[in-house]
Order: sequence, then structure tokens, then C-alpha cells
Amino acid sequence: MTAIQHLFDNNKQWAEKRTKENPEFFKRLSEQQSPKYLWIGCSDSRVPANALLGMDPGEVFVHRNIANQVIHTDLNCLSVIQYAVDVLKVQHIIVCGHYGCGGVSAALDNKSHGLIDNWLRHIEDVYRFHQEEMDQVTDEKERINLLCELNVIEQVANICKTTTLVNAWQSNQDITVHGVVYNLHDGILKDLNVSANSK
Ligand SMILES: [Zn+2]
Repeated sequence: MTAIQHLFDNNKQWAEKRTKENPEFFKRLSEQQSPKYLWIGCSDSRVPANALLGMDPGEVFVHRNIANQVIHTDLNCLSVIQYAVDVLKVQHIIVCGHYGCGGVSAALDNKSHGLIDNWLRHIEDVYRFHQEEMDQVTDEKERINLLCELNVIEQVANICKTTTLVNAWQSNQDITVHGVVYNLHDGILKDLNVSANSK
């Protein structure tokens, strides 16, 4: 018995339940995926894309990293975007941040966190771009939450500037990029109304 035997047990129960509900479920999924959505979210365990969207396996293509960032030199994220847009032909890309994000908070606290500080530097840049707006807010929690929103807006802009999106829009591919923030306290997504498409 391994230390994670309960996970295998859970998995077996889940697979049996899905098959009971729909005997074709895994057969259909094993043949192809055709998700309409690409989700770029935070790695935070409390923000699971499929669960909070009420979506089944096969419905959303997912990339997650700390503080939901889209960095122009991050081949991992850029490859996910390219595959989602060029091959899967997703119609929507959703950048989802969340209030109280530990990554955003760590970028603001002027402490050393080791290697991850290099990753969080990009969020410090977002702070610098919006320093005037940020410095008008004195409450620490509110400052973090504002930066969570500004960070999402910045990442939406970063996606729009990728070669993948520029090329897709030039060839009139119907694809929209959205920015949203998730509230851990009530499970609700807020639309930041920064959606962008080629029209
Ligand atoms: Zn987070």
C-alpha cells in the first residue's frame, strides 16, 4: 500500500461513476479533444479551472503558473497558446487571476523568497507601470487585490501581443481574449471587461 493509495482509489471510483453516467464518456474523449476555451490561471490549489467553470474533461484547455502570468520569453506558456489557437482553434482565451493571490502578495512584500523572486519580478513591473494608482490605496489587502486585477489586465495585453494572436487575428480567426478575477470567498468570477478581439 503506497502513501497515495487513496488517490488511486478515488480515481477508480471517479472513472467508474463517469462510465456509469455515460458509457461513451472516455471513448469519446480518447478520440479527440475540441475545447472552445483556453484557461490561463494561477497554480493556487483553490482555483481549479474545470471545477469552478462547471466543465467536464475535454471542455477547457488549461495552463497554470504562479500568478497567472504570460511572459514573452516563457516557451511553456507561449507553446500552450500556440497549440490552443493554431491546432485546437479555441474561441476564447481566459486569463484568470484571484484576489488574495500569494504570488502577487509576495511581489509586494519586499522580502526574499528565493528563485521565485525572478518570476515575481514581472509583477513588480506591473506595480511600477501603475504606481500612481497603486499608491492611492493604503489598505494592504486592497493593494494586493488591485494589483491582482492590474496583473490580469497586463497579461491580457501580453497575450494580444504574441505572434500567435497577431497572426490569428490577421487571418480573421475568431478568437477573443478575456480578463477575469476569481473571489476565493464566494467562488464567483468577476469580468474585468477588458475583452479583446480583432474587430
Ligand atoms: Zn495565486
